[in-house]
This record gives sequence, C-alpha cells and structure tokens, in this order.
Amino acid sequence: MKRIAIVGAGQSGLQLALGLQQNGHDVTLISNRSAGQFRSGRVTSTQIMYDRAMRTERALGIDLWERSAPDVHYLSMSVGHPLDRASTLCDWSGRFQAPAQSVDQRVKFADWIELFEQRGGTLRIADADVATLEALADDHDLVVVAAGKGDLVQIFERDPARSMFDRPQRALGLIYVNGVDAGDAPDKGYIDISPNIGELVSFPALTTSGPCDVMLFEGLPDGPMDCWRPDFSAGEFVDTAKRLVSTYFPWRAPRYARIELTDANAVLCGRLAPTVRKPVARLPSGRPVLGMADVVVVNDPISGQGSNSAALCADLYLRRILDHGDQPFDAGWMGDTFEMFWRYAHYVSSFTGMLLKGTPNVVNAVISAGASTDLADAFAHGLNDPRTFGTWLMPNYH
Ligand SMILES: Cc1cc2nc3c(=O)[nH]c(=O)nc-3n(C[C@H](O)[C@H](O)[C@H](O)COP(=O)(O)OP(=O)(O)OC[C@H]3O[C@@H](n4cnc5c(N)ncnc54)[C@H](O)[C@@H]3O)c2cc1C
Repeated sequence: MKRIAIVGAGQSGLQLALGLQQNGHDVTLISNRSAGQFRSGRVTSTQIMYDRAMRTERALGIDLWERSAPDVHYLSMSVGHPLDRASTLCDWSGRFQAPAQSVDQRVKFADWIELFEQRGGTLRIADADVATLEALADDHDLVVVAAGKGDLVQIFERDPARSMFDRPQRALGLIYVNGVDAGDAPDKGYIDISPNIGELVSFPALTTSGPCDVMLFEGLPDGPMDCWRPDFSAGEFVDTAKRLVSTYFPWRAPRYARIELTDANAVLCGRLAPTVRKPVARLPSGRPVLGMADVVVVNDPISGQGSNSAALCADLYLRRILDHGDQPFDAGWMGDTFEMFWRYAHYVSSFTGMLLKGTPNVVNAVISAGASTDLADAFAHGLNDPRTFGTWLMPNYH
C-alpha cells in the first residue's frame, strides 16, 4: 500500500483518488471546496464527455448519473454566411458511435467527494500552497497536483515549445438554461460558428435541478462577443445570450427564444490562455511533485475536451501507479508518465488550436461535411477520440 496525496478535487483528482482507493492505497485528498460548497456554488464548465472518457468512469463504477443525464447522440455543426448572417454555409448532423453526456461538475464533484469519504478516504479542506505540498511530501510516497486552473499551477514551468498560444484566444460566457426548444431533436449537441465573430456551443446536460441545456459563447478577443462582465446580473447574462444569438446566430434564434437560467449560480465568464507546462515541479526542498490534467495541458473549451482529457489522464496515471509496485515515484517516472499522456494530449491541443485559429482545412472540412454523412460522422467520432483527426484532418500530426 502506498500513501498518495492528491491536491484538487476535480475531474482528474477525484477520479484518480477513487481509483487508487479502490485498489487499496491510502489516499489523502486536499480540496479547497467541500461537497456542500460545490453543490451550492457557481457552475465551472460545460463538461460534455464522450464515450471513450466515460468508459474510464464506468470501469471504476463511479458513473453515477448515466441513467439520469440526457444522452447526446448527435453533433450538429453550422457555419453562418459571412456576408448574410441569416443564412448558413452548412448545417449538418453527425452521429456519435455511443452517446455523450454532460453532468454539472457541481453535482459530480460533490457526489464523488462524499463517495470518497464514505469509503474511508482522508479529505482535507484547504487552499493548498507550496508549504502544504512540502508537508504532504514529508509523509506521502507521491504528491499529485490536480488543481485545474488554480494559482498553484504556477509552480509548473510553462513549456514554450509545446504551447501554441501565449494568451487567451476567446472571451467566454456560459449559462445553464431551461426552456430550449429542441423540436424533434432533443439529443443533439451544437457547435455553431459565426465567422470572424465567435462560436456558440450548446447541448443538453444534467444540473442540480435536473435536465437542462448549457450554452457556451466563445467570442474572439475584442470582437462584439467579447462583452461578458463578471458583475452582470443573472438577467443581464440571459439578455446578453439572447442578443448574441439573434445577432450572430439568427438561424438558431427560435431554439433559444424562451430560455431562462436554471439557477442564479448558473453563469460564468472569463478567459484562459491555452498552455502546456512541464509536468514535474521541484519544491524548495528539492522533492518532485507531478502535475496532472489541466495543470499540465489546458485548452480553450471550444473543442469540449478538457474533462475528457482529465478522465483519460486520471486513468493513465492510475494504471502507471498500480503498475509501479514498490518502486519509488521519482522525477524520471513522473516525466515518463506525463509523456505517455502527451502522446494523446497533443492531438487534443492541435485540434483545439486549429479550431481556435479557424484554419482553412478545418473550415473547409466542416463545410464539406454538409454534403457527406461519412464526414459528419467522422467529426463526431473525432470529438470522442481526437487522435482519429490525425488520419484525415491534421495528417501532419503523429
Ligand atoms: C467554460 C468552460 C467550459 C468547458 N466545457 C467543457 C466541455 O464541454 N467538455 C470538456 O471535456 N471540458 C470542458 N471544459 C474543461 C473542463 O472543465 C476541465 O478541463 C476539467 O474540469 C479539468 O479537470 P481537472 O481535474 O484538471 O481540473 P478541475 O476539474 O478544474 O479540478 C480542479 C480542482 O482543484 C481545486 N483547486 C484549485 N486550486 C486548489 C488549491 N490550491 N488547493 C486545493 N484545491 C484546489 C479546484 O477548486 C477544483 O475543484 C470547460 C471549461 C470551461 C472553463
């Protein structure tokens, strides 16, 4: 049995903690929020997850919401006409090979924290800093930092060679709503593109009050969709969403005409710089700690990949730890572990970067998919496994 400390109770940290616990390890989890604080707090993500990542939760038996969360069977993509916004260059649907789902992280993380405690795990509520990490390193065999986008990530050096960007590429506005008119297609997720303006990503989800829809607005910096302010009232969030839909995505306006927030905390805005970091940080004592998921590879949410990558990272780190037996978790093992994750994650970063840049091959492929069911299905499958884009959309990536 190993003593392992995990800092950050999010998708990757909780999944790894529960997996290690099930395999007989002694896990200490440091979270800056309790289950109750997650449940009553603000939304954090849109967190659509695809089959490949969901399988890693299923394998641990921690897929607690598969029956209650709405299934998303189709990906719909559209591109507005740059000169005539009322019309579109394409508007197609591709079918996922297995359904996707989105479970509000307020629900998921709160339930998982409680499960971890019920199973005898040690949970400490604290805003961990370097001194906390030193103390954890004193009496644990391994310290994993899974603190998402928190300040603690700064101890991990940015990797300029692997980071495609050095600043945020989109201004983000997010709301969870009821009242979407889904017509006869309640099981579709949407990525709608307004050229040179931004994107609207929307799909069904499960929130604290039950099924809902999430709407994520991705505006080009300093453009007309870069308009969200943290001091907006709940009403201003909804009014802004309706205005942006009717102005920049008018072909979707009927779908969102009667939306209302699911709850007062169902709003979020901000921006993040897509960044890849070195996976091992040295504490002042010289001891190494290992970064995971968003700490080491954070992407813009336009491609809806972060939770998926976090689940796959947790799955890989779990197997690496279990396979390591009694050997020490040194910096070499940590670096090798991350490199195995990067073999997958670089496809995610590359695909996300191409979407953000609106590279011609991606835009042309999206438009062409309007005339090809196979291509539309290939897009849907690519979200489930971005490595498959390497065979046709981005052949220069291996
Ligand atoms: C607007 C938006 C929409 C998104 N939509 C999607 C999507 O549709 N699909 C998808 O796959 N991904 C999406 N993502 C990304 C996804 O939410 C993240 O990539 C994923 O949650 C990362 O998992 P993680 O374990 O690395 O970090 P997180 O899940 O963020 O967990 C980190 C945890 O660490 C805690 N923490 C931070 N600092 C400390 C500290 N010092 N001490 C203790 N605890 C700490 C945090 O409170 C949090 O609980 C979206 C992100 C955003 C911002």
